[in-house]
Amino acid sequence: MILYRKYRPQKFSDVVGQEHVVRTLQGALQTGKISHAYLFTGPRGTGKTTMARILAKAVNCANPKNSDACAVCDFCTEVETGRAMDLIEIDAASNRGIDEIRTLREGTRFSSMNTGKYKVYVIDECHQLTKEASNALLKTLEEPPAKTLFVLATTEAHKVLPTIISRVQRFDFKKLAVEQIMVKLASISETEKIKIEKDLLRLIALQAEGSLRDAESNFSKLIAFQGKNINEEAVKEVLGIIPFNFFRDWFGFVHQKKQAEATVLVNHIYQSGLDLDNFAKGLLDYARRILVARASPVVAASFQGDIGAEHAQAIVDLAKDLDSKRLSQVIGILMRAREEMKSSPIPQLPLELAIAELTT
Ligand SMILES: [Zn+2]
Repeated sequence: MILYRKYRPQKFSDVVGQEHVVRTLQGALQTGKISHAYLFTGPRGTGKTTMARILAKAVNCANPKNSDACAVCDFCTEVETGRAMDLIEIDAASNRGIDEIRTLREGTRFSSMNTGKYKVYVIDECHQLTKEASNALLKTLEEPPAKTLFVLATTEAHKVLPTIISRVQRFDFKKLAVEQIMVKLASISETEKIKIEKDLLRLIALQAEGSLRDAESNFSKLIAFQGKNINEEAVKEVLGIIPFNFFRDWFGFVHQKKQAEATVLVNHIYQSGLDLDNFAKGLLDYARRILVARASPVVAASFQGDIGAEHAQAIVDLAKDLDSKRLSQVIGILMRAREEMKSSPIPQLPLELAIAELTT
């Protein structure tokens, strides 16, 4: 089951996050002030092409409600099933040639012959267009044909010609917050009747680092392997996600100079098939959170949204015990251990050495 496709937002009101984009686009639709070209830029998996499709629907929808697509009229359903003639999606990563854009330019000439509908071109990964194709696109944007809408999507706006950027309205998509991803995963589990604890949804959301698509595809994988009952073991095994209490325990042991316990923990993680580099990265993230908690209780309070109240409190407690000097020592030694792990013949050795150095 591909959850990402199944639960892809159909209209603006379904979109999770990106409120600034949704609000501005709906406002433009309401006042009839749609721009002829948009640039959607931001990290992967944050809904850029989904938003482009919703916009395409909203401009051509037969029964828009509050400037939102109805998701049921002919045009809306054609977009969903990939049959909409007036929506042309170009993947610049695979179609880098000038032919594509030339066809695009020829195609736009006939746009107004259609039944008053907008012809919408979505160019994904537009930073990968060849120089010639970019120039052809620029010419088209300089003399935009009537009733034509361009949506350029990219993860790397700095690679798009500045002259193109100056001709488009730009929206910066943000990474999704852990809470936002959790809400979406929770609603999927409810619909699919999946039994999973909230803390595990949090781990999946955290692991996705702001990409809803990654979170949903990992969730699909879990369901495929595990069925409707998902426990912590499955999350560890299938996704290789390291539960947060391992980091808390490790820091606790190191703080109390319990070399043996910390070493056993590292070996336990290694033997259960989890990635030690991931663990080291997680330790660094944890150390950073302790550092931030020392500097700013306000920012520390925001950790609750990411990692839950219990783990946020553990970090605040550790921040009281570990001073900045000790923390920077831990971070320095961990960074070095992570670097050494790349060439170590025994994967766990650099972390064991780091523990020895920190506890004796
Ligand atoms: Zn519609």
